[in-house]
Amino acid sequence: MPLLPLVGSATQVPLLDGTTTTYANLDVAASAPALQSVAARVAEVLPWYASVHRGAGYLSQVSTALYEQSRQQIGAYVSARDDDVTVITRNTTDAVNLLAGCVPGRVLVLDIEHHANLLPWRRVASGVSVVEGRDSLAGAVAVLADELARDSYALVAITGASNVTGETLPVGEIVTLAHAHGARVFVDGAQLLAHRRFSLAATGADYVAFSGHKLYAPYGAGALVGRRDWLDVGTPYLAGGGAVDDVEVGETTWQPAPARHEGGSPNVVGAAALAAACAALDAVDPVELDRHEAALRGRLVAGLTALDGVDVIRLWPAEAEPEAIGRAVEELAEPVGVVTFTVRGIEPGRVAAYLSAEHGLGVRDGRFCAQPLLKRLGLSAGAVRASIGVGTSVADVDRLIAGVRSLLAGDV
Ligand code: PLP
Repeated sequence: MPLLPLVGSATQVPLLDGTTTTYANLDVAASAPALQSVAARVAEVLPWYASVHRGAGYLSQVSTALYEQSRQQIGAYVSARDDDVTVITRNTTDAVNLLAGCVPGRVLVLDIEHHANLLPWRRVASGVSVVEGRDSLAGAVAVLADELARDSYALVAITGASNVTGETLPVGEIVTLAHAHGARVFVDGAQLLAHRRFSLAATGADYVAFSGHKLYAPYGAGALVGRRDWLDVGTPYLAGGGAVDDVEVGETTWQPAPARHEGGSPNVVGAAALAAACAALDAVDPVELDRHEAALRGRLVAGLTALDGVDVIRLWPAEAEPEAIGRAVEELAEPVGVVTFTVRGIEPGRVAAYLSAEHGLGVRDGRFCAQPLLKRLGLSAGAVRASIGVGTSVADVDRLIAGVRSLLAGDV
């Protein structure tokens, strides 16, 4: 039984031999299917949407209230503080680009990041430093510490969980470190938030961004939540109606955040869907979610590792495990449900195509929009990624292991 019921979980897909099978979607880290409760919420709000923040008609008033209520729920999901602001964006990429226009100084990132948490920072006028994550988690934190001591930074941008390996970063520790050097911390929550609860208030992080389509809502809505001051004065992300306070020919004064960055008609249905997904995930016991994912991840890693010819990829090698960096095991969260591997001698694209065509398994292959990391790990040709979510079952995981086993056995 899935932890939360999903739309399309019984979808039948064609196989090469002419039969069909139930699709096993092990690519939820890319985009997750919608929750049934989210689909129901979308159906509920569709008859009610009209212009937002613009019309006096009844439906416009309902739409505006719906949009603002969704904003409040989305902010609450990451425990936004009283002085934080929630900007509704299209997705995480959008949110990072937006924040990049508001950062008043240099940005520091590790080379393990998704391109969305790497490339937008290159547009920051003061520049970005990208430092190598070295070969252990402690080493990566030490690299950040060295760099913060060496130069002045306004922001440290880190991922909450790697989209390549699922490994998590110690957000609270990095926040303490960065704040001691006068820098703020942005957390890319695109992967982490689908698997773990995240709190701005508890971690002390200054900003977090995430995407609805990874949180079991449809595409098109995401959020940037965090400190108001930079967002109130930063470059308006989208120039246009709704973002302005006053316009003269040749001169404009802008609204403060969030309106400042939400030019144009907003995605009210997407915001309502994302808020519904947040509410549904909020209702899941985090311990139960952790247990579900850890059991499936453990089973998958064990099953793949036992196959001769398969290499499971880690961001940091074994000496980076909890004991080695002097931390109590329980203080270090397990990786989230993302497992990346290679099959020796077989291109990742062929592995993924085989698993799809012969076994009805959806996995991701490629370089996962993290090319600097993949190159450093010696994986320029890419790898294969399987990801686990609230709808993943033991049977899905076992089908994947069996599929890779039969590929290795030459049943192609
Ligand atoms: N950050 C991470 C860690 C991701 O995994 C992704 C998507 O794969 C993104 C950012 C970008 O998300 P989006 O495509 O929704 O903007």
